[in-house]
Amino acid sequence: MAEIILRSLAHSYDGGASWALRDVDLRWRDGGAYALLGPSGCGKTTLLGIISGLLQPTRGQVLYAGKDVTHASSRERNIAQVFQFPVVYDTMTVRDNLAFPLRNRGLPAAEIARRVERIADTLELTPLLPVRATRLTADQKQILSLGRGLVREDVAAILFDEPLTVIDPHRKWLLRRKLKEIHKQFRHTLIYVTHDQTEALTFADEVVVMQDGQVLQRGTPEQLFRRPAHTYVGYFIGSPGMNVLPCARVAGEPARVRLGDATVALAAALPEDHADAGALELGIRPEHIAIEAAPTGLVLTVTAVEDHGRFHIVTGQLAGHRVKLRIGHAVDPVPPAVGAELHVRFPADKLCVYRNHRLLAPAPEEAP
Ligand code: ATP
Repeated sequence: MAEIILRSLAHSYDGGASWALRDVDLRWRDGGAYALLGPSGCGKTTLLGIISGLLQPTRGQVLYAGKDVTHASSRERNIAQVFQFPVVYDTMTVRDNLAFPLRNRGLPAAEIARRVERIADTLELTPLLPVRATRLTADQKQILSLGRGLVREDVAAILFDEPLTVIDPHRKWLLRRKLKEIHKQFRHTLIYVTHDQTEALTFADEVVVMQDGQVLQRGTPEQLFRRPAHTYVGYFIGSPGMNVLPCARVAGEPARVRLGDATVALAAALPEDHADAGALELGIRPEHIAIEAAPTGLVLTVTAVEDHGRFHIVTGQLAGHRVKLRIGHAVDPVPPAVGAELHVRFPADKLCVYRNHRLLAPAPEEAP
């Protein structure tokens, strides 16, 4: 296994007219479990292709364990890949499919048998070992495909490109847990591409959020939730995403911002603005907005209420902007009525202030 470093990567498919990736600098620790998360078209597959050696970047370098592999093939990089759709040999049995990557590398028969049995046991494929792959369901084929990716112990990294797309939701959950277990046991470097935040947040120690060919933030699920470095990360992570509202400085009061007619206290003073400073926005998560009995200065008029079983999502208008609240049934099982006016409070320690969509306060944390 190896530490992987991506240095100043950029990629264009059309000779520089547009860029699928721009300014990507990332370090993937040896043995870490990572997710690459972002909407369709943000550059995840392009980045994975560059890491695996299927694509040569237009600019920049790829290093494996300190060695420049930018121009090396996938085979030379010694990585395993699991794709969105299963890659299995239909005419072979499950056992032979699992053994194939090991036979290819010339491992002794006893060692192959040991590893095949171990991975089959972990993925609950043991009863299917003698069965031909053509007789498997789509789910089972993809699990076999995962097994083929995981069976080698000597790989530098295992790359997954949306591997659970074809799996039904319940098995998806089981397989994510299995992948985590396998990771704990074998400490492969895993990079997992997905557009599904639940998949990314439950699988990875660290998540890299991308938009429009760029990395917006890399952090633990908790860091991404608590301190999104960009308004898009706030919006993309969370259900519903973070509320982001235009706000303004209050003259002479650097630890407050103006929201419509009201002012809101921040946990700390904002840094001084430059002359060309851009628009300020205030971010607050729907679960952090508190409803108060007494007036708070912030009034939210309820426009819609949705029951999600364990919580309600309340949508309302506040200072001319749409705001969402998430209220747990345990906190208040009776939701407010449409048309009601609620006094709400934004707790200072839960607020993020953004300038030009970038986190201004609290100050961004250094990536670990
Ligand atoms: P998805 O989740 O839909 O696969 P993605 O995040 O993996 O999306 P990429 O497939 O890497 O994104 O695409 C990034 C950008 O590069 C998109 O604008 C896409 O249209 C473009 N692109 C990807 N592959 C090619 C290609 N082979 N030729 C030209 N443009 C491409």
